[in-house]
Amino acid sequence: MARVFLQLVRQHLIWPITLIAAFPVATGAIPLPSEKPATEILAVPVPTQKATPSKNNVSSHKKQQLVLRDDEPAKLYFGAMTDSAPLAARAIGSYAKGCLAGGEALPTDGANWQVMRLSRNRNWGHPELVQFLKDLSNDAPSLGWRGLLVGDLAQPRGGPMLSGHASHQIGLDADIWLTEMPDRRLTAKEREEISAISMLKGPLDVKDADRSVDPRKWTDSRARLIRRAASDKRVARIFVSPTIKKALCEFETGKDRSWLRTVRPWWGHHYHFHVRLTCPKDSSGCKNQNPPPPGDGCGKELTYWLSDEPWVPKKPEDPNKKPKVVKKRPMALSALPKSCKTVLAAQ
Ligand SMILES: [Zn+2]
Repeated sequence: MARVFLQLVRQHLIWPITLIAAFPVATGAIPLPSEKPATEILAVPVPTQKATPSKNNVSSHKKQQLVLRDDEPAKLYFGAMTDSAPLAARAIGSYAKGCLAGGEALPTDGANWQVMRLSRNRNWGHPELVQFLKDLSNDAPSLGWRGLLVGDLAQPRGGPMLSGHASHQIGLDADIWLTEMPDRRLTAKEREEISAISMLKGPLDVKDADRSVDPRKWTDSRARLIRRAASDKRVARIFVSPTIKKALCEFETGKDRSWLRTVRPWWGHHYHFHVRLTCPKDSSGCKNQNPPPPGDGCGKELTYWLSDEPWVPKKPEDPNKKPKVVKKRPMALSALPKSCKTVLAAQ
């Protein structure tokens, strides 16, 4: 039965795998400055198709004992889970190699937030992340921001995803759109179809590009929202486009620039910002990243990110040459912490 189940899951997988192979960008091949950032594949458009098997498949796995094979890609199992593991809440492993026990769903609607892309079922997190998002949304109006449009958190039991992110695995990562919540409830259809708006002035991958935010889109309210998030003690890092980091460095004219240290330049992240919490106290086996380098990060490191070097290929591309496709083996179940099997098996 488990084999049939996996086959069915596989059928859902063929196209996202092809899609990832077709976009070999941002796999980390470009040398980076001082920090070795956590992985996140952001140049890959996240498909909106539901990446979970039909109800029948899931109910069949519930009745049967789920057979867990170490050599199977972990994302097949985690991508098929439709509810959280009924265990004590715990973030297990590291941001890009782990899972989540006792995940809590962020309700799809709150007074000052709305969850987007409901079909993905990725609004699950450690209760501390859910609480953080509620707190941030509460503060939003006083910052001149009506409310949050919330993108992906984690899958119900965390773990690797069938498409999109490399991190977001332990219920401590959340994407928040840089588009303000409208003054009405969006329909489920709108939440699938509405696109976030990029803050970029233009393309980043051309020589001598102006790598700034578009002043017609970027506002101080966005800067205040990110500052509020970055100042929260629970937050380890916030990832934004280097263009946004630059805007934030210029925005802060006060004495306290310590929050800027938490805001890290990274690929993508011009449609949304990505909040990452530190390991909660209850989560034994949760691995924090090293803290960011000291300082506000507005100097040399940012200059590098805003230069041509990370963005423009050294030699002009030969138009006849086929782009190199980086084929990465999906992470096997055996690569995750052992407790993640307990998380998968819990009923
Ligand atoms: Zn993210």
